[in-house]
Amino acid sequence: MDKQKFLITTAIDYCNDVIHVGHAYEKLLADALARYYRLTHEAKNVYFLTGTDEHGTTNEKAAQKRGISTEEHVTEISQKDQAQIDSLNVSYDRFIRTTDSDHVQIAADFYQKAVDNGDIYKGTYEGLYCESCESYKTLTELDENGQCPLHPTKEIQKYEEENYFFAWSKYQDFLLDLIESNKIQVLPDGKRSEMLAFLREGLQDIPVTRPKYKLPWGITAPNDEDHVLYVWFDALINYFTAGSQNNLWNDETFIIHFVGKDIARWHVLLWPAMLQSAGYQLPDTVYVHGFMNLNGQKISKSRGNVIAPSELVDKYGADAVRYYLLKHGPIVEDVDISIPQFEEVYTADLANGLGNLVARTAKVLEKAGYQTKPADYSQYPQTPEMESRWSEYRADQVAILIWEKIRDLDKYIDETKPWELLKSNEVLSAENSNVWEKLTVEIREIAQLVEPFIPDAAAKIKAQFAGTSIASTEGLFPRLTS
Ligand SMILES: [Zn+2]
Repeated sequence: MDKQKFLITTAIDYCNDVIHVGHAYEKLLADALARYYRLTHEAKNVYFLTGTDEHGTTNEKAAQKRGISTEEHVTEISQKDQAQIDSLNVSYDRFIRTTDSDHVQIAADFYQKAVDNGDIYKGTYEGLYCESCESYKTLTELDENGQCPLHPTKEIQKYEEENYFFAWSKYQDFLLDLIESNKIQVLPDGKRSEMLAFLREGLQDIPVTRPKYKLPWGITAPNDEDHVLYVWFDALINYFTAGSQNNLWNDETFIIHFVGKDIARWHVLLWPAMLQSAGYQLPDTVYVHGFMNLNGQKISKSRGNVIAPSELVDKYGADAVRYYLLKHGPIVEDVDISIPQFEEVYTADLANGLGNLVARTAKVLEKAGYQTKPADYSQYPQTPEMESRWSEYRADQVAILIWEKIRDLDKYIDETKPWELLKSNEVLSAENSNVWEKLTVEIREIAQLVEPFIPDAAAKIKAQFAGTSIASTEGLFPRLTS
């Protein structure tokens, strides 16, 4: 990859409700990548964006249900979402809200560019709409009961209204070429095929405004004040808002969007067409991930199995939650998470694994009184294999490789038995010093390598092993008590 600037984004969440642990994975995957790029490139050239999607029917109805103003409602949910993301130590550069004044202006300007290019026209939409998806549906997209397959308990709406349409169909061949030629990289491969298959069925023009008398909560369309921008048209532009405000929406920047499989179509097919219409740079990569289920069930309020990320963080610490979710992250298919499995992984990989390794290494080095050179943490000590896994955004596989290194060092310690060397007459003999040096160097490398996954622990180990002599400290990952 020759681009040296990076814009990394997650999807922005609707404010109908606060995000839960199922939403955490995407933020963490994007965060791990942002941290990795900052470690391997100029940190100032990495920009990481997340935020909230605050317009549209879903948010308005959630506010009405609570009997408060929509503005008050979305502000409260947005702050709570941000607190959840903060609890996970997610290192975003901006938490954008689609009600932010710069976005409101930039989204309206973007829409006007599409108007000026002749891609927006007035028409009448007669058809179906899922308010939970905020999405127009055709009959073939509904399940056998005539409901949205993603929201089977929600009534599908019939809309007949005057809208402004976006000439999406005009971009069919453009999009086909874009994806087939990998000018936009769609990962993983199965999602790319799915998008191509959908495209080959043919695109239909799509309403990109809603009449204000039905939905006042939105960004006013600059070409007709009786309309607001359709929430997806508005929301997708958030990436451009933050990117252009930071001089990153150009061909010098590698732009990557992380999105869930339910919204891949908007990002792979609508968003590039919108950008092309308005005359802006296209993103480089759209990475599509599956969902996390909890104990084999979809996580949802109606099932009553919602867990807030902060609840887990309070009990186990941010690093532990980050490590577990990243290691078990959904890559192609959905994956199942559970608290017993989490605790098993915590004990095996963190408390008994990394934590114990660091503790026993520090202890023998302290007892040996070994003196070494101060640490140099300027280069990220990845192997070519790790680099290659990172280039495919496979944080899960990188974690496995790093923990293999941790196990290898554990094995080395079991074999060389450094506590026996402490009993020798010459603890600091040349031969013994080779062992002390290897232990020091390896722990320093491990501390650097784990930083994208467990930044707090990484910082502690780096500090502990930074100087010329190493002292033991309290454990990194306390053992769980039941
Ligand atoms: Zn739906």
